[in-house]
Amino acid sequence: MLKAANISFGYTSKEVIKNISFKANKGDYIAIIGESGSGKSTLLEIIYGLLHIEKGTVYWNDKKLLGPNFRLIPGEDFMKYLPQDFDLMPYTTVEENIGKYISSQDKNKKKRIRELLKVVDMKEFSQTKVQNLSVGQKQRVSIAKVIAKEPQVLLLDEPFSHIDNFRKNKLRRDLFKYLKSKNILCIVATHDTTDALSFADKILVIRNGKLIAKNTPEKLYKNPKSAYIASFFDEINKIPLSEIDTSTTSKYTVLLYPNEIKLTTNEGIKATVVSSFFKGSHYLIEALLNKTTLFFEHDASLKKDAQIFIKIDADAISRNVV
Ligand code: ADP
Ligand code: MG
Repeated sequence: MLKAANISFGYTSKEVIKNISFKANKGDYIAIIGESGSGKSTLLEIIYGLLHIEKGTVYWNDKKLLGPNFRLIPGEDFMKYLPQDFDLMPYTTVEENIGKYISSQDKNKKKRIRELLKVVDMKEFSQTKVQNLSVGQKQRVSIAKVIAKEPQVLLLDEPFSHIDNFRKNKLRRDLFKYLKSKNILCIVATHDTTDALSFADKILVIRNGKLIAKNTPEKLYKNPKSAYIASFFDEINKIPLSEIDTSTTSKYTVLLYPNEIKLTTNEGIKATVVSSFFKGSHYLIEALLNKTTLFFEHDASLKKDAQIFIKIDADAISRNVV
């Protein structure tokens, strides 16, 4: 088990990681989410042992990790870390880049390389020199490289940021399936909703260096404690309660996802259509409720300026008053 206990860190006297604690088990996939500058990359570097912390401790199976001030080469052997700017050897082939991390004593070296290239869908490029690959292809090679040694803990910083949508979904499915099958603990810093929602066992939400929530994707999605958390998952509506329920003078605000607001026939809350955005499986409708802009999903586009009625799920309202 990996355990971070009360860790704080600052590059200068200003702390950018503030008293963060969490635990993660073997084989888990933990997603760290948060706006840019919130401290995701810093947290990964602390865990890997690249940054010295004065306050707090990182443990692996109850063993205290020493950090860079006590090691000749920073970084733990049982971990692999893929930084945001992945480094590869440009003048050698894809196969050589990955093979460097597999012992030449290993009789199955060729087979292992083929298996890794399959995970990242790069078999056909095995003999291509890295300098001739696109950025997204390089990123895929760098993912294969860090899993080549079968680390016990894998730390990935925005691992799919350069990978096009055509293959991102398949790559994610293949990679996370592979990591589970090898029981590798994986911690991913990401701003991609799908990385976190569809695959993570647990999500850690960081804001200004503080861990403000940790929970399963389902629980965080269904019960976001703030607009900051909810807005990571979807377009989020912040509607004053008094706009929905005219009998109240409450100053509370309701947080609603677009799929929790429905169009109804001639009774409900009055709104005016502003725009319709085609989303493939549905339209996202922008509408005005008095002066509040709101977004909801509908199966057809609606005419600009049309007067409509909407209905909000009562459960969603009671759950989301903040
Ligand atoms: P994220 O990965 O969530 O975008 P970072 O961990 O990179 O956030 O950064 C957290 C904070 O630390 C930011 O305010 C950033 O400006 C600062 N920071 C990051 N790296 C350094 C550095 N090498 N020196 C000084 N400040 C840094
Ligand atoms: Mg970062």
